Amino acid sequence: MVEAYDPGNIFAKILRGEIPSHRVYEDDAVVAFMDVMPQGMGHTLVMPKAPSRNILDADPATFGPLFAVVQKVAVAVKKAFDADGVTLMQFNESASGQTVYHLHVHVVPRFEGVPLKPHSGQMEKPEVLAENADKIRAALAS
Ligand code: 5GP
Repeated sequence: MVEAYDPGNIFAKILRGEIPSHRVYEDDAVVAFMDVMPQGMGHTLVMPKAPSRNILDADPATFGPLFAVVQKVAVAVKKAFDADGVTLMQFNESASGQTVYHLHVHVVPRFEGVPLKPHSGQMEKPEVLAENADKIRAALAS
């Protein structure tokens, strides 16, 4: 059984503007913002505005708009950081590694020979997140 969506989760608060985030993209259905504990430079999260814990309880209509933005952001982060590749990750329930229960996709620029840092590891400095967000916004606009 899938647990009910909790509107008090931290990403719901980010969506409502109750806590700050470095947003790089927003449309009617989707928001993309910087992960505060990045597993690599430019680690971005893409989430639908529609509430669901993860893919197990999401409305299938969510995925088209969500993955259209995931692709946009993947192309933009590769360009912004001159990356060699891009890793996507998406976790469903705690057994899989999920820690925040609002559906989201991780988009992480990758560089040959550079391993990912630990999941939910160290907080990045706000100024670094702001600088990286600027680079991604610029790449999305170009
Ligand atoms: P999950 O484990 O649920 O797939 O990923 C949650 C992600 O959210 C982690 O990578 C973690 O670093 C990130 N995160 C946790 N709290 C916050 C927060 O308050 N703001 C932002 N921007 N990211 C967060």
